[in-house]
Amino acid sequence: MVDNSQPEVNQKPRPRPVLPEELIREEPILEKAYVCVLRERRFASQAMAILANCKHLPCPRHLKRCHGTRIYLAALDRLPEGIHGPAELRQLLADLGLDLALLEDELETPQVPAKPARSKAQMRAATAHWPLHFHPDPRLEALLSGAALADLAPLESAAQLVATAARAAVGGTCCSGAAAILEPSRRGPPRVLALARASLDRHPLWHAAMLAVDLVAHGQGGGAWDLKPRQLEGTGKRLRLRVRRPLVFPPELDSLILVGDDDDDEEEEGNGEEAAYLCTGYWAVLVQEPCPMCAMALLHSRVARIFYGVGNPRAGVLGSRALLHNVPGLNHRYEVWSGLLEAECARALDSATTI
Ligand SMILES: [Zn+2]
Repeated sequence: MVDNSQPEVNQKPRPRPVLPEELIREEPILEKAYVCVLRERRFASQAMAILANCKHLPCPRHLKRCHGTRIYLAALDRLPEGIHGPAELRQLLADLGLDLALLEDELETPQVPAKPARSKAQMRAATAHWPLHFHPDPRLEALLSGAALADLAPLESAAQLVATAARAAVGGTCCSGAAAILEPSRRGPPRVLALARASLDRHPLWHAAMLAVDLVAHGQGGGAWDLKPRQLEGTGKRLRLRVRRPLVFPPELDSLILVGDDDDDEEEEGNGEEAAYLCTGYWAVLVQEPCPMCAMALLHSRVARIFYGVGNPRAGVLGSRALLHNVPGLNHRYEVWSGLLEAECARALDSATTI
């Protein structure tokens, strides 16, 4: 019999969302709990009414109190004060007014989920042990299922662009490569606004993402460094200036911008619509996972999504050494994917100079 199935030799790996372990893991963390067992299901409402008013035996918010004829009482390691085992627990139930004749003689100690389910997959796995209250997070489900990245082609084009730009990067051992800032659009593919490669031979802070963010600021009439983007020459630098051709640094990267991608060197004033604040809503495409400085610059500039090709085990903080985008208390969060054109990006980094 002939096997007509085609090997997927050209199948590129999809970028992977970078998420904390507690969101990715499917198997629940379990803990033992005391449960009482009703002799008949019809006694459940009576038992539930008594327990509902009992502050000594609270049910964790993520667990349902009742599972068939079983009623959750307390985790083994969080018994009420003065209660040390099943005999005292049964006595507490009697003191609360529950008729012990409704219960089987022995309490059981099943494993129940210790924490709330965060995803549908976690919910399915956890309910095999004990029923849960659960409200799915549509954003998280879209990240986990891949639905959040419907059209990969424009992202791969951008990754190809930054990989090509990175071949002549001058980076350090902690951060290197090239970066692009993209403006997503509902009407078509995202537009490249800025492209930069690491230039540490010229300035110690000129990491790729730092330069890309500063180029966008130049396009908005600001910018911290004197990068002199050629595309802005002769223009009045005013807020809401929208340059159609991507701003690049160093200038020779302009040769990578395909003619026809944009109207050559034309610029237009903002047509009445408010420009984004810094990089609000924009996407960043990087060859390498950013260092802490670059990751914070992207955070402060409010990018919405970051895609990188290669992990940065020495200093990366979006997956390798830390998950900056999961640190509580920060005033902005972005979504992060790794592995976008990973092989091409790795080859580009091999070609880059490290100082
Ligand atoms: Zn950096």
